[in-house]
This record gives sequence, structure tokens and C-alpha cells, in this order.
Amino acid sequence: MTTPVPQIKLNSGASIPQLGFGVFLVDPADTQRVVEDALEVGYRHIDTATGYNNEKEVGAALRASGIPRDQIFLTTKLRNDHHKAGDVQGAFSRSLDALGLDYIDLYLIHWPMPANERYVDTWHAFEGFAADGRAKSIGVSNFLIPHLEKLLSETDVVPAVNQVELHPIFQQRELRKFHAEHGIHTEAWGPLGQGKYELFTLPAIQDAAKAHDVQPAQVVLRWHLQTGNIVIPKLNHRARMAQNFDVFGFELSDDEMAAIDALDENRRVGGNPAEVN
Ligand code: NAD
Repeated sequence: MTTPVPQIKLNSGASIPQLGFGVFLVDPADTQRVVEDALEVGYRHIDTATGYNNEKEVGAALRASGIPRDQIFLTTKLRNDHHKAGDVQGAFSRSLDALGLDYIDLYLIHWPMPANERYVDTWHAFEGFAADGRAKSIGVSNFLIPHLEKLLSETDVVPAVNQVELHPIFQQRELRKFHAEHGIHTEAWGPLGQGKYELFTLPAIQDAAKAHDVQPAQVVLRWHLQTGNIVIPKLNHRARMAQNFDVFGFELSDDEMAAIDALDENRRVGGNPAEVN
């Protein structure tokens, strides 16, 4: 199948589909169906985590789809309590087993948990997974600039991505600039604000939706794509999965982009990584 989704080249040399599909808070009982639906709609990039408790069901969906392994990009993440306990090798092996895979496309440290002071040691273990080929790319999530600076100064491999909260009222300008300067790609979680504020009723988004005859969510996803973010919205309903995938037939104008850029309040709706420990 040909895909309209652009591929972004990571510093590992691997390519990641810019639009993926996240499965946070997808009940394990629903996950296989949801991921099979997403793959049928056309998504080829699935974002899970050990902490989502649905790796086994994601793996089952990948196998049931019959899609060749090398055409799917699979991300999973080291769970915080395993990170805290220094159980990194064991956690990675258990993820591979649960998914039923012999490699992961992208393995992330889920949170830095700075008070535990383990993330540099953990990253050394991740460098080993990249070296032995079991992780094609390695990256981090929820890292603030000081955490990235510490990794860059004390370790060898630059994270391929930093997956962070990012949406129109929390645009992460300073962090995105830092990423760009160091060859780290920005991946947006909660790209639709997790439904925690009235994103879809904001005039800048509604106006663009009317102008292009699309839904507000499609405008927000288009804004992410044109901004250069890798983006992984989540959904349980197939019709909306298709809607969120249908974002390559229109383009926001410079004025429309600027109006959404102007919504930034630098306000998180999720946890502050400095305080998650
Ligand atoms: P999201 O911003 O994708 O919001 C999901 C909500 O938006 C759901 O309630 C969904 O029903 C609704 N929605 C999606 N498309 C819609 C549409 N077209 N119209 C109306 N409503 C729509 O939030 P999220 O799920 O938290 O984030 C996406 C993914 O990011 C997750 O599934 C997960 O993979 C990842 N994530 C990572 C972290 C991390 O710490 N690394 C944290 C949270 C999420």
C-alpha cells in the first residue's frame, strides 16, 4: 500500500512515519481490535509503552495484520518503576517477549525521574540495545533541557527523539529549538490536548476548519505536521481514526499557521517532568 505519510529520517539512519497512532489508556481488552483497525486505516507507526499494559495485545495485532514487520514502526517505553529499580535489561527483554518481536524500532526512557539520578546509567544500557540491533533507534520522553544537556555531555549516542507534551497551548518553543540544534526530533504526545481544554472551539482552529472544510482535530494535526512534529494521536473509534489519517489533502496557509502559533500559553495539561519521580 502506498502511504501519504511523510517519513522523517532519524539520527540513527532509520525513518519514522511522521503521523502515528498512540495507545495510551486503550484497555487491553480493546487494544488488538483498535490497533488492527488503525493498521487497516493505514497507520504504520504505533506508540505503546510497558506502562500502558497493552504491549502483548499490540504485538498480537501486528501479527494478525499480516503486514511485513519492516513496514511497521513500533515504539515502546521503559516503565518508571523498572527504570527506578535499575531493571533496564530485564524490562527491555520482557517488552520484546510481550510484543513477540525480536527488535523494537524505537525504545524510549518514559520519564527522566531526575530525583532518582539514574537516567544516565539507563541511557548507557539503551546504547547497548542500539549497538546489538535490538533497538533500531533509542530516544527519551519528557526530558527537559537540563536532562538532555547531561545526556549529551556524559554519553555517546544522541537521542533520536524526545517525546513530550505538545499541543497548541503548550508549544515547547525553547525545547524544540534545542532539539533542532542537536539533531533530536520532536515527537508530540497529547497532540490534541488530551481533551483537557476546549481546543476544538478556539477561533483560530475553527476558522481554519471551516476554510478547508475539515474537522478541528484535522487542523490541529495538520498544524503539528507543518510545524515538523512527529505526532501520535489516539482514538478508539475507527471512523475518527480515518479522519485523523486524512490530513494530507489540504495545507494551512502561513496566516492560519501564525494564528495557531499565537495560541501558545506555555501551559502544560500533564505532569511536569521535574516533579515526576
Ligand atoms: P490526545 O491528545 O491524542 O487526545 C486523545 C483524545 O482526543 C481522546 O479522548 C480522543 O477520543 C480524542 N480525539 C482524537 N481524535 C479526535 C477527533 N478527530 N475528534 C475528536 N476527538 C478526538 O492524547 P493522548 O492519547 O494522551 O496522546 C496521544 C499518544 O501519546 C498516547 O496514546 C500515547 O501513545 C502518547 N503519550 C505519551 C506520553 C508520554 O509520557 N510519553 C504521555 C501521554 C501520551
